[in-house]
Amino acid sequence: MNYNSWYACIRGCGRRYSIYDVIYRCEDCGGLLDVEHDLAALKQVSAEEWKKLFDQRVRSNAWPYGSGVWGKKEWVCPQVDNEQIVSMYEGHTNCFRADRLGREIGLPDLWVKLCGNSHTGSFKDLGMTVLVSVVRQMIRDGKPIKAVACASTGDTSAALAAYAAAAGVPAVILLPRGKVSTEQLIQPIANGAKVLSLDTDFDGCMRIVQELTKDPTIYLANSMNSLRMEGQKTVGIEIVQQFDWEAPDWIILPAGNLGNVSALGKGLLLAKELGVIDKLPRIACAQSQNANPLYRSFLKGFKEYEPVKAQKTFASAIQIGDPVSYERAVKTLKAFDGVVEQAGEDELANAVARADRTGLYTCPHTGVALAALFKLLARGVIKSNERVVVISTAHGLKFSGFKVEYHSNKLQDIVTLYANPPLELPADYAVVRKAIDQFGLQ
Ligand SMILES: *Cc1c(COP(=O)(O)O)cnc(C)c1O
Ligand SMILES: [Zn+2]
Repeated sequence: MNYNSWYACIRGCGRRYSIYDVIYRCEDCGGLLDVEHDLAALKQVSAEEWKKLFDQRVRSNAWPYGSGVWGKKEWVCPQVDNEQIVSMYEGHTNCFRADRLGREIGLPDLWVKLCGNSHTGSFKDLGMTVLVSVVRQMIRDGKPIKAVACASTGDTSAALAAYAAAAGVPAVILLPRGKVSTEQLIQPIANGAKVLSLDTDFDGCMRIVQELTKDPTIYLANSMNSLRMEGQKTVGIEIVQQFDWEAPDWIILPAGNLGNVSALGKGLLLAKELGVIDKLPRIACAQSQNANPLYRSFLKGFKEYEPVKAQKTFASAIQIGDPVSYERAVKTLKAFDGVVEQAGEDELANAVARADRTGLYTCPHTGVALAALFKLLARGVIKSNERVVVISTAHGLKFSGFKVEYHSNKLQDIVTLYANPPLELPADYAVVRKAIDQFGLQ
């Protein structure tokens, strides 16, 4: 069977482009482009056959199908040659029941999809494998591409640098100076990318990279480039697959540039269209109160949109004031009866610490999602008998500085509810014994 995909303008003007064109917006109307698939061809295969095929490929070693993304190649990017695919077997991250945290908050059916358990420590790997594979195919087919480039809040750049290095393609990375964690800064440096640290914020880096990539030999890897959405959309398909092809009641995720909520929705809609699920979950987007343009728009029924100047937040990957995929995200939230909630710095920091005390090890963005969950549950928007999946977007180990400061009570203006600083004692048995007695262990 021959499957195919192409770019189509999201404003519905009818223009189509090849996925091998170096293009990020519609030439006619300036709209963003989405990848569309030949649904008629995909529908030739029954839902039962798709499920069986995808289940068989899970963790198989037949290249490239052992990847969570490429295991669904026909739905993602059918036309790229398997030999050109650049994959670290991303995806297939664990989705587990957060039993103790769920019981503590009165939500026994709470699950966490741990997307940070991935090659570069965030869910950005899912999209980057697709983008870099297409770039490698383009170079192979003679397109004059000299480098791939992105602006980043830290995770996109880590993923781009790793996949580009694996492919042998130069990567140019624009980071806002002092606004990404040490771990995120060192990742692209170690992978040999050209790292430019600029005196601006993410939105400022984004403006410059858009200028830079008007040169068609420098290929743009930000999520304006919807090839990444094709990989990112597998997270939703993977979640329903992990529940034996059944959708949960809710999926919650932190949201900044809004590409990921759109991708999540896209994957789930395709799964429904092709019959592998029969109902859709509701989606809740969680924003930092310091970078909340989607939340503000939600409060006005999505009738108005105003970019904001993003303020500093511990959830640095979503410190974005003018999200590129706003239009797409609104469409998605409308299709999924979605809601938007926000979390302040206090709330997100304490949500992280509370979750960590139950054995998780979450990043600040996941903290935003958890804090939003606590509020939605308290308000009765989410009911205590519902099944809820929280998408945990990055590994907690990327944010050690934040956790160290929290637990040593050094975070400015934060009243810590769960700080757990170590006791520093002389190496003396009597002193140690006395300290342990004072813990009041039962
Ligand atoms: C990119 C990212 C997000 C937000 O995704 P958007 O598509 O920008 O909304 C959330 N958490 C982490 C850790 C990320 O890297
Ligand atoms: Zn158009």
